Amino acid sequence: MNWALMAAEATGGVGLACWLSHRRSVRGPISELDAYARQVSMIEAVLFDFGGVVLTSPFDAFARYEVEAGLPPHTIRGINATNPDTNAWALFERREVDVEGFCLLFEAEAAELGLVLDAQRVLASLHGELRPAMVDAVRRCSDELRTGLLTNNVTPLADQESARPEVLSVVALFDVVVESSLVGCRKPEPEFYELACTLLGVEPSRCVFLDDLGINLKPARSMGMTTIKVGDPAAAIEELEAVLGFPLG
Ligand SMILES: [Mg+2]
Repeated sequence: MNWALMAAEATGGVGLACWLSHRRSVRGPISELDAYARQVSMIEAVLFDFGGVVLTSPFDAFARYEVEAGLPPHTIRGINATNPDTNAWALFERREVDVEGFCLLFEAEAAELGLVLDAQRVLASLHGELRPAMVDAVRRCSDELRTGLLTNNVTPLADQESARPEVLSVVALFDVVVESSLVGCRKPEPEFYELACTLLGVEPSRCVFLDDLGINLKPARSMGMTTIKVGDPAAAIEELEAVLGFPLG
């Protein structure tokens, strides 16, 4: 990606590209180019979802369990998407029920569909693996801007990831970590995003938010955030680079 050209196009100044090239050739470090490109971007904070963005997607693990258990494809996502604000998953992510309560309710929701599944196995699917390129992007963003981790979870990360220090070291890169299990609200409730912005001291319009679920991006977009839906991590990083105006590799 041609960052000087991008900056020039953003301001309509062809001469600027020459100036940037000159500055770069004379002074060398790309950080000066980055600094200028950042002035072009109005973004002050980058907000990341965790599962399916920084970590691999739990949906892949759900799919493996569905095959193993002989369940129809997308069974677990389908249960989660039914009555999404009041179902077992929603109650659990707000910590309104404990593990045992969740399992009873979730298995009952499956039974209503004529299905038998093991809710403990569903919970075991939540532990994704770090995506190295996305971790690099988080680190680079943290060097330049304010960063937030916005995650719906059922167990606070400090407990859930206590056996994975490499994951906790990534969590520590963020200026602000907002966890549904600790704050009593969850995505896509607007209060969750408002809390993140308040803690970061930024206006929503100065934020870009990455999540793998469209339903979680919708309220963020309504509040004025720039949003990126994460499917392929490489494509999402490229999109984020274009929004920020500096490279993340
Ligand atoms: Mg996610």
